[in-house]
Amino acid sequence: MNAVPPTSASLIAALAGLLPNGGLLTTDEDLARYSRDWSGDHFGRPLAVARPASVEEMSALMRHCHAERIPVVPQGGLTGLVGAAVAADGGEIVISLERMNRIRSISPIDFAMVVEAGCILEDAKRAAEESDCLLPITFGAQGSCRIGGNVATNAGGFNVLRYGMTRDLVLGLEVVLADGRIWNGLKVLRKDNRGYDLKQIFIGSEGTLGIVTAAALKLFPKPTQIETALVGLRSVEDAMALYARARRDCSDLLTAFELILRGGIEITMREGKDFPDPLGKAYPAYVLIEVSAGGLIDLSAMLLGFLDGVADIVEDGIVASTRAQAERLWLYREIMVERQGRGGRYLRTDVSVPISKLADFVTDALFDLQRARPDALAVTYGHVGDGNIHLNVVPPEGMTPEAIEHLFEEAEAHIFAVVDRCGGSISAEHGIGRVKQKAFLERIDPVTLDLAAGIKDAFDPRHILSNGRILASTSALDYR
Ligand SMILES: Cc1cc2nc3c(=O)[nH]c(=O)nc-3n(C[C@H](O)[C@H](O)[C@H](O)COP(=O)(O)OP(=O)(O)OC[C@H]3O[C@@H](n4cnc5c(N)ncnc54)[C@H](O)[C@@H]3O)c2cc1C
Repeated sequence: MNAVPPTSASLIAALAGLLPNGGLLTTDEDLARYSRDWSGDHFGRPLAVARPASVEEMSALMRHCHAERIPVVPQGGLTGLVGAAVAADGGEIVISLERMNRIRSISPIDFAMVVEAGCILEDAKRAAEESDCLLPITFGAQGSCRIGGNVATNAGGFNVLRYGMTRDLVLGLEVVLADGRIWNGLKVLRKDNRGYDLKQIFIGSEGTLGIVTAAALKLFPKPTQIETALVGLRSVEDAMALYARARRDCSDLLTAFELILRGGIEITMREGKDFPDPLGKAYPAYVLIEVSAGGLIDLSAMLLGFLDGVADIVEDGIVASTRAQAERLWLYREIMVERQGRGGRYLRTDVSVPISKLADFVTDALFDLQRARPDALAVTYGHVGDGNIHLNVVPPEGMTPEAIEHLFEEAEAHIFAVVDRCGGSISAEHGIGRVKQKAFLERIDPVTLDLAAGIKDAFDPRHILSNGRILASTSALDYR
């Protein structure tokens, strides 16, 4: 079923009537900030930006869009990396959640908080901390991404190995459906086996099944101790051997285990004298390890004891003695992510394989890539405790846009072929959106596709929500 926008003028007038007090933006100047994502790789000028301030306004907006078959795309902080939240050029209304950003409640007794979808993740984390609780979703974009975006992408991050992905942290949701009805599944119950668990269908659905307006999230006791170390290793195999030992010896206190290959550390070192070689000498692989705990455990002694016990694997390392030093170690990870894109576009991959196959995956994928494209710089890092690797490809300087496109296609095909051989996933965290759609649909089995299409039809029969993301577009609208 095709979504056909009516003429712009009447459409704008009708929407403006539904969204008073600056709720609708239409000028080029106003739209600019909603038209480009964090990466700068995806751009699309929306027809207008709707900014409902309440669930009632959202409901009225969607009722109208459903009746008139107006295509829409929900937008959070625009940090998603698969081109899903920007509009199809001139053809969609962006629905920004930014004015629905309240923290509705926090209950340290329930270990739960209810947050509106437009709340920035860092603000939600801060509010939880003020109640002596921890909202564990943690990653580089937390200062910009919004809770609705985190739910819609089932965000992961550094702490998944201890606390799980967003899916594991959502207790309930409030969702405005494609036809404007409000589904109130906002509860803080830990156990509830009444029929289908409908919230799960919206988590990770990338805006294609409904608009999340609020989420009830699980909280945890705020750790009173955090210990961080950076270690240098001979190989990815050694990193995985270290992970196995850390899992056993640090048990559930292990909060992060981040692998960075030497090339990534060198990217951060380009930042200048403030970022010297962190261990004084180069090692093929590095791991950032974090453990955290509350209560009476002597965490520092535990980490030092663990590191003593793995002296056969670890070549060298430093343990942060203050929080400031720990934050500095994490900066090597964060700056690398930001700096790899400074020279322009680069290929981002976000794959996962069984943990037991991770070392083989990295070795084989880097070997195939190097053989096929020795001119490309591979930057490899990831949340290896979750089997999740980012194997990114930076093109050489001076390459034409056409040659870059070709390089990315070739490199991605090589990387995904190794993922397939390892029984892995082409998207561990970032989702499918538009960028990974072709690779996703090439790999999907007919039964899964049939079920997915049926779910889409049931929740959004007119295909007005994020059309052309995850599943193929059903309208004449074309995307950049
Ligand atoms: C530096 C950096 C580091 C990152 N690290 C990680 C990481 O470690 N782990 C990880 O998982 N991701 C990571 N990401 C990706 C990104 O931050 C996450 O996918 C994040 O959850 C997106 O949130 P957002 O608010 O920016 O969403 P947007 O980019 O605005 O939107 C993402 C998707 O969600 C949909 N959406 C947004 N809001 C709603 C809503 N209220 N209802 C329904 N659909 C909605 C959009 O339509 C789109 O499909 C990183 C990104 C950057 C830039």
